[in-house]
Amino acid sequence: MDKYDVIVIGAGPGGYVAAIRCAQLGLKTACVDEWLNADGKPSPGGTCLNVGCIPSKALLESSLLYERVQNDAKLHGIKTGTVSLDLQTMMQRKGKVVSDLTGGIHALFKSNGVSLISGRGTLLSGKRVSVAINGEEATQEIAAEHIILAPGSVSRSHPDAPFDDQYIVDSSGALSFSEVPETLAIIGAGVIALELGSVWRRLGAKVTLVKLGKTLLPEVDQQIGRMAAQQYKKQGLEIRSECKVVGSALKDNRVELQLEEKGGESVATFDRVVVAIGRIPNTRGLFGDGCDIAINDSGQVEVDEKCRTSVEGIYAIGDAVRGPMLAHKGSEEGVMVAELIAGKFSEVNYDTIPSVIYTEPEVAWCGKSEQQLKEEGIEYNKGSFPFAANGRALAGGHAGGMIKVLSESDSDRIVGVHMVGPHVSELIAEAVIAMEMGGSSEDLALTMFAHPSLSESLHEAALDVSGSAIHKGRR
Ligand code: FAD
Repeated sequence: MDKYDVIVIGAGPGGYVAAIRCAQLGLKTACVDEWLNADGKPSPGGTCLNVGCIPSKALLESSLLYERVQNDAKLHGIKTGTVSLDLQTMMQRKGKVVSDLTGGIHALFKSNGVSLISGRGTLLSGKRVSVAINGEEATQEIAAEHIILAPGSVSRSHPDAPFDDQYIVDSSGALSFSEVPETLAIIGAGVIALELGSVWRRLGAKVTLVKLGKTLLPEVDQQIGRMAAQQYKKQGLEIRSECKVVGSALKDNRVELQLEEKGGESVATFDRVVVAIGRIPNTRGLFGDGCDIAINDSGQVEVDEKCRTSVEGIYAIGDAVRGPMLAHKGSEEGVMVAELIAGKFSEVNYDTIPSVIYTEPEVAWCGKSEQQLKEEGIEYNKGSFPFAANGRALAGGHAGGMIKVLSESDSDRIVGVHMVGPHVSELIAEAVIAMEMGGSSEDLALTMFAHPSLSESLHEAALDVSGSAIHKGRR
């Protein structure tokens, strides 16, 4: 039986980062991952690289370009001929982006000396792992001093609209339609639903989001969420709130959804349906007899703040544990656990995890929203600045949106930054750095920002906390 210092189960952004960091720290490391690409070859990178963050952003970029060429080029004085869509090429480009990145992980594993074992791992007692090797009958047993569980998550299914992988699909299916559906329903209206809805709307589908709750994006600062929602509706995304899917049926190659809403019951028909109602931890079949790993009611592996499970020497990270299901959160946990195993001090600051929605406009935030601060009784000051008064935003034709900075009244420490507008997926990093360093709005206000740049809006929002924004009328 091969023995390692560390075995990582799962090579998503949690697991592969953990494995590389372990190897960097001199630990003999194996990473077990079962993902195979369409050619039947190992494809490390997990959900994120194969069917999540990366392919969705590739399609968001392509579809945005398609829409901009049609709508915006003429505003810049650029004349184009008839613009048409070649979906196959768009999908091939997406596939190339994915394979370049998964290939990069193979190379990183090789250069760091991480052994990638392609197969399905089951945790056994005594820190052993049995691996059903991909493409072989054989099972291999390996053991280690430390085990990191990073099995990720899978799409939650809908009891009244079960997946059939053709007409009713999950997010992975929605990333590889072979033609643009004329009508598309998305059950759910969270981040993934909004991003996928944006892709297919831009490519020509009539998209309807069906959601249970009243408020769109309840986790987002309300003012920012409202501004984003207005734009989505203006773009033609139909959002049916307080609407419950209670049944589905396939008729003439289309899906009939039975809906229950305030006005009563109705039936709506769509060419395709995407179920995007959240994801659940992928722990099914992960544990053999006698493992004693505690799992909570949501199916997550129970861990403490250092990602230690109920069994000494076994850790769990990423989507399979508490906290937001975000790639960078899993990666940071992977680094922390590797460093703890190597005997170093390490921790994750869960208060400064950035969140981004890659729609148009983009939405990004870090820390607490105004509604959270109010609920928690924290006194705060706020400053804001609209992109409409930012030269770079206007030059780029992106006048919508704003940045808001929230700081504690007594200390001025920044406790939340919320953005909606152009390239805020990048701008939010500036706020995260300031917050990570315990910065105040005054620290940001005293910092010099290049002109003209979108970042100046963050500067002005920070200045506005003390009422000294230059390019904003006095309150
Ligand atoms: P995963 O990435 O799910 O990887 C787990 C890996 O473990 C997989 O390869 C799986 O096959 C393997 N595995 C599981 N069990 C076993 C086993 N028993 N044996 C062997 N291998 C096993 N997050 C962001 O931060 N930004 C985004 O923009 C973003 N966009 C997304 C878009 C979509 C459409 C989706 C679906 C998700 C998106 N996410 C995004 C979420 C992100 O993909 C996840 O948070 C992230 O992938 C979780 O990383 P992980 O390492 O925990 O697990």
